[in-house]
Amino acid sequence: MPTHRPSLFLAARKAAISALAVLALASAPPLAAAEPLSITLLGTGSPAPNATRFSQSILVEAGSDKYLIDLGRGVTIRLSQLGIPMRKITASFITHSHSDHLNGLADFWMTGWIGTGYGGRTTPMVLYGPRGTEAMAKHLEMAFAENTRIRHADEKEPLSGIEIDAHDIAGGFSYEHNGVKITAFDSHHGDLIKPNFGYVIEYDGKKAVISGDTTYDEKVARAGKDADLLLHEVAYISEELIKEQPVYKAVAEHHTSPEEAGRIFDQAKPKLAAFTHLVVRLAGEQLDLPASNVLLENVGKTYAGPVVVGEDLMRFVIDDDAIVVNGYKGQYGFRIKR
Ligand SMILES: [Zn+2]
Ligand SMILES: [Zn+2]
Repeated sequence: MPTHRPSLFLAARKAAISALAVLALASAPPLAAAEPLSITLLGTGSPAPNATRFSQSILVEAGSDKYLIDLGRGVTIRLSQLGIPMRKITASFITHSHSDHLNGLADFWMTGWIGTGYGGRTTPMVLYGPRGTEAMAKHLEMAFAENTRIRHADEKEPLSGIEIDAHDIAGGFSYEHNGVKITAFDSHHGDLIKPNFGYVIEYDGKKAVISGDTTYDEKVARAGKDADLLLHEVAYISEELIKEQPVYKAVAEHHTSPEEAGRIFDQAKPKLAAFTHLVVRLAGEQLDLPASNVLLENVGKTYAGPVVVGEDLMRFVIDDDAIVVNGYKGQYGFRIKR
């Protein structure tokens, strides 16, 4: 982490550290209350099967709580790369009922119940999402009833851990737990895709906003007003490809172009803006491309502030002084003052 530290003489520093250690042992004072809000992109891609960009899932960490926003393809693999056992997830929130936001859900639910280090959930999986979430949970339980029966009989995993505590919610719903507040807001992804949410996450004076899938929608700008981090979806589909495969016209119409996202950022004025859910297609290409250049060039036409193009396992740590962006192996390294 590229923080600046005033230089100290080694002896003085050692003495200070020893004094602190003694103090800690003697009185065990509580740690300072300032807690970071941490957002990790588990998947930054689209429905396209892509080994480096899994589909949508975002990990939120605040104090001892951990949350998932969407459970797209590969969510269990990304959590495993981070060394986070699935039982540690406090609750999960779904933005809308498109498959690229849900196709890791059954894996997370069932694998998280297996009584090993990576799983071990013994209490119900808590799930909030748009209308249809409760029905989906009920049907998942029916679809995989034999897995539940077999494992419970054979491995003795407790049945409480395979229950789904599902809740259909509407825009405006707020969840609060241990100082974390997660609020769903309506956004426009298409006339037939309703309900459709973005989420505002607030913790200890920090604010991160996730657009979810959306067209250009000023409700996202209002929700993202003065956020520390505004994560926005983005699509760049070339005119050439739309001529070649007209189906992409509809795809483009359901998402936000980099120029449009720039206008949202300009209204919201977040401390840092970032792209996730990258849909970048050019003529002749099957899968999402390396996207940074074309996205940054086009967002720059409408927005002058800082923008980061997300990668899987990129982490944004918002603390009292700064927002630090890093890969899970420390491979990026970017710090911006709050
Ligand atoms: Zn969608
Ligand atoms: Zn999507």
